[in-house]
Amino acid sequence: MARTFFVGGNWKCNGTSDDVKKIVGVLNGAEVPPEDVVEVVVSPPYVFLPLVKSLLRSDFGVAAQNCWVRKGGAFTGEISVEMLVNLNIPWVILGHSERRLLLNESNEFVGDKVAYALSQGLKVIACVGETLEQRESGSTMAVVAAQTKAIAERVLNWDNIVLAYEPVWAIGTGKVATPAQAQEVHTELRKWLHENTGPEVAASVRIIYGGSVNGKNCKELAAQPDVDGFLVGGASLKPEFIDIIASSTVKKNN
Ligand code: PEP
Repeated sequence: MARTFFVGGNWKCNGTSDDVKKIVGVLNGAEVPPEDVVEVVVSPPYVFLPLVKSLLRSDFGVAAQNCWVRKGGAFTGEISVEMLVNLNIPWVILGHSERRLLLNESNEFVGDKVAYALSQGLKVIACVGETLEQRESGSTMAVVAAQTKAIAERVLNWDNIVLAYEPVWAIGTGKVATPAQAQEVHTELRKWLHENTGPEVAASVRIIYGGSVNGKNCKELAAQPDVDGFLVGGASLKPEFIDIIASSTVKKNN
């Protein structure tokens, strides 16, 4: 089954409205492969979502970086799924390791968020990934399987989920996983999905890689058969994000 390449840009907690306008200007002026080759979604901080939505070209999507776990209400400082739906924000990133580790988001909490966001019509970029300690102790697959299981237990329909494998040791460190390391975990994740959610989900879910992807290493990673795209942090704020989007054509030539 053909899986459209997916490139997400996670701007994290960076920038001013002037920076945002500059980045959007670069994106709007870029020549990129057509939508049937690559789906592009950028994720600015909450406060800039309306601005980005209003300025960004219509063939690129927009994602929030988080959302509240249930219906909104008395949850000071949170942003509800309903608000994102109201602003026509189609995507949300959930389970990013910075939130799992710094804000103690458990697998179950992330699973609940994914289920609630989907139930209200959002599409979800769900992140999983192991720490260096976990990799070195040989538990990579057990960790990402447990993170994925917490989602699978709460969700029946995977049509609106993109699964992002993001090894924590590769995020923002400049230490990218080798193409073989990425392919190995993506294959195992696809096998896990096959056994636990069925062959159709396993064949159709896009499993994207995140962790120090840049304009130089993207092509070799994109060429791996089970790498269906990228979630990009630091490089998504730079013009090289366009090169990362263009690496999607590697798939077309396979
Ligand atoms: C991320 O934050 O999702 C990420 C992959 O960051 P970076 O590309 O900077 O490693």
